[in-house]
Amino acid sequence: MGENTRRIYFDHNATTYMRQEVIDAMQPFLRDRFGNASSLHFFGQENRDAVDDARADIARILGAEPEEIILTSGGTESDNLAIRGVVMARRKAPGRCHIITSVIEHPAVLKTCEALEDEGCDVTYVPSDGEGLVRVDILEESIRPETVLVSVMLANNETGVIQPIGRISELTRKKEIILHTDAVQGVGKIGVNVDDLGVDLLSISAHKFYGPKGLGALYVRRGTDLEPVYTGGSHERGLRPGTENIPGIIGFGKACRIAKESLPKEIKYIGELRERLERGILERIEDVIFIGTGAPRVPNTCSIVIPRIEGEAVTLNLSMLGFAVSSGSACSSGKSEASHVLTAIGLDPADAQGGVRISLGIENTSLEVDAFIEAFAVVVERLRKLSPLNG
Ligand SMILES: *Cc1c(COP(=O)(O)O)cnc(C)c1O
Repeated sequence: MGENTRRIYFDHNATTYMRQEVIDAMQPFLRDRFGNASSLHFFGQENRDAVDDARADIARILGAEPEEIILTSGGTESDNLAIRGVVMARRKAPGRCHIITSVIEHPAVLKTCEALEDEGCDVTYVPSDGEGLVRVDILEESIRPETVLVSVMLANNETGVIQPIGRISELTRKKEIILHTDAVQGVGKIGVNVDDLGVDLLSISAHKFYGPKGLGALYVRRGTDLEPVYTGGSHERGLRPGTENIPGIIGFGKACRIAKESLPKEIKYIGELRERLERGILERIEDVIFIGTGAPRVPNTCSIVIPRIEGEAVTLNLSMLGFAVSSGSACSSGKSEASHVLTAIGLDPADAQGGVRISLGIENTSLEVDAFIEAFAVVVERLRKLSPLNG
């Protein structure tokens, strides 16, 4: 295999391809089964049934009830609906608008909170410790009588570190504060159960676990105060109006069904691949920092920092050799800024530029991992020779 024809994908936290079964399940709905699920005739009613079945599959992977699932256009919209929806429902009481979130959140949460600051809410951004774990002690101290919402992600997209949501829920429950978690990087990678986590709202996105892009859901625990962001028809219990993306919903349901069935074996397989990867990097490359290895992590994510080398240069060089990895988060690449997550963990901003994220998927193999380790070592060595910082 020539180097220029090799295409190996290690960026599954950015997005995944669809499983073949997902594509097959969607196919009929792209043409013959095109009806609007709100229509009373058979074109509509048979699609209503199909959407209900998919909703049940989505609920099941979270340990939720189908009525608690609001379908959206993805993780970003689910995060927006959760945060803005709670603020709109609860700020009716004058002065009651304080949100607690963390510095390591995805931009879908961070930028929404920043926008709400401009609209008159107070927001506390809780720091992270050196392993990438949100400081629950500081979160607890930040709670005020006017706190309406705590939003902390389940698994970080850059580091894979799993946050102590269960412990946070013990705090929010006592004070009747609504708890939201962005579980986009959790579902399909670890078991997720809304009752074990103790959350009221939880965001997921289909394209992060072998489902279609542009589909997501917000889990809304029964009785949670929430108002819609969009106004329109009565779809999704009035919380998210608009004619359903039926092929997408069918694919989303299928992706959930398969993920639930195959999770234990995929966790084991991917976990072993990552072990091989991290061991190989440790043996072949000197002076690399592994992020979050002292904390619980989702099994597919490896986050490393190579001091004094730009992560973007590593990523571009690896791309030329046929390997797709990420420097920092996909959403912030393009700008040559240090990752906000790596900086929050306490890395020197110059070192935080050297972040590389390798996120494995179910079809990656040990041969691919071995080839990657070799290419990675070559690229790092080449860049270290070139770097003026190593002079
Ligand atoms: C990808 C991602 C999102 C955004 O989801 P989309 O479906 O792409 O809008 C939100 N949060 C996290 C943690 C993510 O990784």
